[in-house]
Amino acid sequence: MGSKAREIVGMDLQKLIEMLNKALADEWLAYYQYWIGAKIIVGPMRGAVAGELMEHAEEELKHAGMLVERIIQLGGTPILKPEDWYKMTNCGYEAPEDHFVAPILEQNIKGEQCAIEVYKKMLDTVKDKDPVTYNMALDILEDEIEHEEDLQAFLADWEETKKRR
Ligand code: FE
Ligand code: FE
Ligand code: MG
Repeated sequence: MGSKAREIVGMDLQKLIEMLNKALADEWLAYYQYWIGAKIIVGPMRGAVAGELMEHAEEELKHAGMLVERIIQLGGTPILKPEDWYKMTNCGYEAPEDHFVAPILEQNIKGEQCAIEVYKKMLDTVKDKDPVTYNMALDILEDEIEHEEDLQAFLADWEETKKRR
């Protein structure tokens, strides 16, 4: 990272890099949870839900890439070992052991709600201190909010279908 670019960050760089790495761990786990969920899901609406899950997986992977780019710009080292995903995650990983549509949607909604909290906290932390990270976190937060909304819409459709049978 350029020295001027580093100078304008008004907070502890190591703390900032750690926060970004923790979010990176979340994104990889979210990516896999969606990706494997899309493969194994069964039940009504499985085609539509699987398509949505796969789209979200791709977006989580894009978020991971954005975080890595910023970590490198700040002079940090992104997580290098998958075992560190588990050590550093904020939101954890929920294995989709029940392959049915509803529990998979519920698990991923929980993950999105955690992600929304993580990026809101990141925005509060870097506000007035690091505009570049702020912009990135805001872009990601907008996606996570959309993800939660999409999944809750599918869950509502499923509940309605159940009622009408
Ligand atoms: Fe994400
Ligand atoms: Fe998401
Ligand atoms: Mg979507």
